[in-house]
Amino acid sequence: NDSHFPVPAHPQDFDWATYYPAFFGGASASHDEAAPSTSAGAATASTSAAAPADAAAPPAGSAEQPLVRFADVGCGFGGLLIRLSPLYPDTLMVGMELRDRVTEYVKERIAALRREEPGKYDNVSCIRTNAQKYLPNYFAKGQLQKLFFLFPDPHFKKANHRRRIINTTLLDEYAYILAVGGIIYTITDVQELGDWMRDKLESHPLFERISDDELAADPAANLLETATEEGQKVARNGGKTWRSVYRRIAST
Ligand code: SAM
Repeated sequence: NDSHFPVPAHPQDFDWATYYPAFFGGASASHDEAAPSTSAGAATASTSAAAPADAAAPPAGSAEQPLVRFADVGCGFGGLLIRLSPLYPDTLMVGMELRDRVTEYVKERIAALRREEPGKYDNVSCIRTNAQKYLPNYFAKGQLQKLFFLFPDPHFKKANHRRRIINTTLLDEYAYILAVGGIIYTITDVQELGDWMRDKLESHPLFERISDDELAADPAANLLETATEEGQKVARNGGKTWRSVYRRIAST
């Protein structure tokens, strides 16, 4: 039930600092006042976060505020975020998960990692929300560089296809929050859903397929099959997967 979690009216209304204290001056302002999960190492992260090397230019008016650049939709137990975190230490990334207890688990998992390895994992967090309804409440136009959909629920019955997380209407929304050049990653072990996601992406005018050759050099693409708990289950069972990765292109 959506009434159980607050949804910001606008991205700037959300309290991002609570999720990434080390990136919002939590550690550098005063170590004594720092939140429990921050640390001496986090001060370094905070400094480098002021100008992330690989971040796109932030939308006008928000130059000082670090912005989330990667989102993992339906992140489940958070395996992808935890693998991505050290690969892109200056990039803020968020998991968006509908199930309350799963979200709490991911937050606790990250908090434990931050305690064990001070200065690391400060760039990842997890929010409980319904990503099918509220993504534009969390992200401004062109804000995201990467958007992940790993092993989404298949909704097999035809009557439920409209609930699939990749559909033409939602792709309009994903195109809106992605920067031009940003990437949408999808993978599934259900062939019919794999075909569906590829077809919807292929026929959308604002997305262009990225070839497997090109993806070989993309560390994020290489995590899709194995980083998440669902991917590991599929791999253990020897299951096949279908991957579609598309780039957001400019409108003509
Ligand atoms: N991506 C993870 C993985 O690969 O292990 C989890 C895959 S699991 C099959 C699908 C996840 O999507 C579940 O955790 C589910 O709660 C979540 N989910 C489904 N609909 C959602 C929505 N509208 N918003 C956010 N999360 C959603």
